[in-house]
Amino acid sequence: MKLTIIGGGIAGLSAAYYATKKAKEQNIPLELTLLEADSHWGGKIKTDRVEGFVIEGGPDTFLATKPWAKDLCNELGIGERLHGTNPEAKNTYVLHKNRLVNLPEGLAMMIPGKVMPMLKTPLLTPLQKLRIGLDFILPVKKGDDDESLGNFITRRMGRATYENLIEPLMSGIYAGDGDKLSLQSTFPYLRDFERKYGSLARGAIKMYRARVKAQQTRGSRSIFLTPTTGLAEMVEAIVAYLEENNATLRLGCKVKRLEGSQVENSQPSNLQTFKQWDIELDDGTTLSADSVILATPAFVSGDLLASPLPELAEALKRVPYVSTATVSLAYKLSDLPRPLDGYGYVIPRSEGREALACTWTSTKFPHRAPEGYALLRVFIGRAGQENDISWNDEGLLKIARNEIKETLGITAEPFVSRVFVWENAMPQYNLGHPDILKQIDATLDPIPSLALAGNGYRGIGIPDCIHSGEVAVEKIFKHEGLEETQS
Ligand SMILES: Cc1cc2nc3c(=O)[nH]c(=O)nc-3n(C[C@H](O)[C@H](O)[C@H](O)COP(=O)(O)OP(=O)(O)OC[C@H]3O[C@@H](n4cnc5c(N)ncnc54)[C@H](O)[C@@H]3O)c2cc1C
Repeated sequence: MKLTIIGGGIAGLSAAYYATKKAKEQNIPLELTLLEADSHWGGKIKTDRVEGFVIEGGPDTFLATKPWAKDLCNELGIGERLHGTNPEAKNTYVLHKNRLVNLPEGLAMMIPGKVMPMLKTPLLTPLQKLRIGLDFILPVKKGDDDESLGNFITRRMGRATYENLIEPLMSGIYAGDGDKLSLQSTFPYLRDFERKYGSLARGAIKMYRARVKAQQTRGSRSIFLTPTTGLAEMVEAIVAYLEENNATLRLGCKVKRLEGSQVENSQPSNLQTFKQWDIELDDGTTLSADSVILATPAFVSGDLLASPLPELAEALKRVPYVSTATVSLAYKLSDLPRPLDGYGYVIPRSEGREALACTWTSTKFPHRAPEGYALLRVFIGRAGQENDISWNDEGLLKIARNEIKETLGITAEPFVSRVFVWENAMPQYNLGHPDILKQIDATLDPIPSLALAGNGYRGIGIPDCIHSGEVAVEKIFKHEGLEETQS
């Protein structure tokens, strides 16, 4: 089988890994090509190792409660190199009226799961806390209609709880606008809490208690993991595996468009079989493949498929993406006016800042900075604020330095600084996203030689992207098996 994977981010790399592994296990001859437009592998995963610091430009950790990233690390032989977050300094803060307030203890999946810390938190007024209590008695919403995350939390717990607590936590994941994000596509378990327990808080309390119990029996292992010298270790390990197995790996290779030749009288009759894909590159040359996995952002996949599958292309282009940036700053510890005694802080949209969060990286992962130094990372850019930001390195550095000056009082010159701009990087699963997925599936499912992977569809985290690559490979190989039994 001649399989071409387009896009060398973690989804495309994982697809390439699983395709190679499967072909070996099933003794299927495989000619695998992986095409990446950029000059580095990993897409949003980009690690700079500089002056003893491990600086992540994009993601800095993955969730271990979804098994796919951890499993892949184990398969790649780097499982032993995974670190959890620092158990010694677990504080996370929220910026509230320009000062840092501790996030209340006992949140389960963002929702308050412990009563006392919520009663004590200065993030909400007494009246706003009483409003949360209504969640225990409000009727459960009937029907299966989707609603926005913002609407859902406001309906159950009041607007202040959404704005001061949930919105900044959600922003750290999606950089999104919670009043537009689809609850069904982003946090479906919250609606399950409502349905199952009649109350969001009751569900969170149960979940929090179960988590504490599990920690007592299993020990408090971190739910966030990352390799010693950064997430690029995963990328490097996959690339090494692919090279060992003779895959054709091409960097700086931008795909311009795809054309598919259809088989006449294809079998089984309901499959819209393309017998060959022609892949036109930016340099004017064309490659051919029996099967293609598109692991590019949804809007790019839409552009590439515009000619052979216009309906699918149109659906793909309906997934909006938001730009974002990270600025990492390193300081001598002696230059810091206050200790970085936690993982950092999140900033509610209502605070009107240009930054959305600041991670105290060297506290969260002490191995990422040399002794005597601190590393911080400021996140900039969220849905609806793109036009307010100057997206050049100088402007972003200024925003980041202003942010830590105002909040942490840091005025010293950074020892090291790095700016990473991610244009159209974060897909937004807005209201209507489930319908977009239905439309995509309806066109794509009957085409056995084409699959999609990546963050645009069913999860933006690294584990989900890895899983999407594996699922895409399953589809392509199912077709391969089918053809073999027919011939
Ligand atoms: C700042 C930031 C922080 C994040 N933090 C976390 C985190 O801590 N944990 C977590 O789990 N997730 C995090 N995420 C999300 C996660 O990193 C991404 O969702 C995931 O890495 C996306 O992987 P992907 O392979 O789907 O896409 P990408 O990484 O975007 O890969 C797609 C690839 O396709 C290539 N491409 C595009 N067009 C073409 C073309 N025409 N021809 C050939 N190649 C092309 C691109 O160059 C790119 O390399 C973060 C994201 C960002 C931006």
